Amino acid sequence: MPGTKDKALEIVDLKKRYPTGVEALRGVSITIEPGDFYGLLGPNGAGKSTLIHCTTGLAQPTGGSIKVFGHDAINDYGKARAAVGLAPQEVNLDQFLTCEETLDFHGGYFGMQKQDRKERTKELLEIFSLTSKARERTRALSGGMKRRLILARALMHRPRLLILDEPTAGVDIELRLELWHYVQKINAEGVTILLTTHYLEEADQLCGRIAFIANGEIAAQGTSEDLARRYDVVNLEDAYLALVGRRELSRSLVDDTLIA
Ligand code: ADP
Repeated sequence: MPGTKDKALEIVDLKKRYPTGVEALRGVSITIEPGDFYGLLGPNGAGKSTLIHCTTGLAQPTGGSIKVFGHDAINDYGKARAAVGLAPQEVNLDQFLTCEETLDFHGGYFGMQKQDRKERTKELLEIFSLTSKARERTRALSGGMKRRLILARALMHRPRLLILDEPTAGVDIELRLELWHYVQKINAEGVTILLTTHYLEEADQLCGRIAFIANGEIAAQGTSEDLARRYDVVNLEDAYLALVGRRELSRSLVDDTLIA
């Protein structure tokens, strides 16, 4: 039974073999404590999306277990799913809905009552500086506004775990910093966060703990400093380069005289 000592996310020996025979996850175990800001880093094809899809019910694991705040993501899917907010990598808004409708429909999907949906929508539009756009269709929003609306939508049903799948992929530096500001605030307010990103400085800045995943296995986990120590290097970027077998690319080896 779920209780107060529950982990935010507890994944044990998770395995996923796709019908094609690809073993995307080969026994992954990670534990995320309530309130953590946790990073999941790894090269393309490592299994990050598969892990997120298994956690949010978009893919069926072939082994192991997943619990979200004590709710079994496989056998008690509804409760586990309600505890998770997902901000996907791609901008997947319905362009014919207004901002208000986008949030309201999402709340309805999660069984929120009408009055609650109305109040929560107002609150989130305010938090994400979208109040003046409430009745605009999403197609009329700027890129930054769309990203903010996706975050607001993920939070609409008050999930305790927010999964951010490469939230800043391909966005400009102002928007990246703006999104960092929002997600840090959300985390400070008590929401546990799981972030995947290819930007190591982003993980370094935001995440208290980080797991490296490669070939469907967790290679190492800990703080940024723990990971550097584990690979006998000085920072997270060099630890990551060691993970992917490219130590020779370390910035510490770049010859300054060639750049000058
Ligand atoms: P990442 O998100 O880290 O890039 P993925 O979880 O997308 O990694 O992919 C892990 C492995 O699983 C890759 O080899 C990928 O080709 C494979 N894979 C992902 N989705 C599917 C699918 N629907 N069917 C078959 N293979 C898949």
